[in-house]
Amino acid sequence: MEAAAEPGNLAGVRHIILVLSGKGGVGKSTISTELALALRHTGKKVGLLDVDLCGPSIPRMLRVQGRAVHQCDRGWLPVFVDQEQGISLMSVGFLLEKPDEAVVWRGPKKNGNARRAGEALAFPFQSTALIKQFVSDVAWGPLDYLVVDTPPGTSDEHMAAVDALRPYGPLGALVVTTPQAVSVGDVRRELTFCRKVGLRVIGLVENMSGFVCPHCAECTHVFSRGGGEELARHTGVPFLGSVPLDPELARSLEEGRDLARGFPDSPAFPVLSSIAQRI
Ligand code: ADP
Repeated sequence: MEAAAEPGNLAGVRHIILVLSGKGGVGKSTISTELALALRHTGKKVGLLDVDLCGPSIPRMLRVQGRAVHQCDRGWLPVFVDQEQGISLMSVGFLLEKPDEAVVWRGPKKNGNARRAGEALAFPFQSTALIKQFVSDVAWGPLDYLVVDTPPGTSDEHMAAVDALRPYGPLGALVVTTPQAVSVGDVRRELTFCRKVGLRVIGLVENMSGFVCPHCAECTHVFSRGGGEELARHTGVPFLGSVPLDPELARSLEEGRDLARGFPDSPAFPVLSSIAQRI
């Protein structure tokens, strides 16, 4: 990795939002992706930084998996997701030779064909260095929002991301939970982490909040109900809304959002659009 880093690579970014969750599988990457889409839909220029190193799923969700990262004189160029270049994405998923194995480092292309392969990514020792590099070496250009999808929990990777991003302005945190009590318990730790490192909590989003029947539109609360909202009340954090479980959303993320067909409609969209208006 020999990107010619510029200290000002994030200087053109107006707002930085870290998306956090107490544990994996609650929909953090989904919410990060849908938030980027919602912000883009309101005309904002958005960067998505996927530093969920062990589960980089956003390239697949946005149908750009397998794309190569190119290098320019200002550093690594993010992958542009839509034709208008309104959403750009950098993910460790682009830098892995075999995304499923998550061990072989592919590195950015220096020109059209060259590729440095074969360097091992030694988890977890290099992960904080990689996160710092993602922050300093990616040539984002001007952005209204940089949305950062972090690993689950609170770890050295989070500290590395916060430390590296902090010089670029106040950081906001969006915390994702599901209604189950265990997840909600994890979120308390997440909120404590935010307080300790001085992250402003934008609010809490409850994901997978019930299942809306596609036939009769009745909402069944598969898990316990209202945990996120209650937790928000107790902790004095804004509650930003609930996103129901939606098979169509799961399917479209599995196949990858096709932005060439316009901006997708999903039950997450109203919630995230309203968040997009407020942040
Ligand atoms: P995390 O980033 O927290 O590990 P993901 O965003 O990868 O979680 O989501 C885990 C799985 O759940 C994915 O297959 C995703 O498509 C699915 N999923 C997340 N949120 C929803 C939802 N509201 N409705 C349906 N499927 C969802």
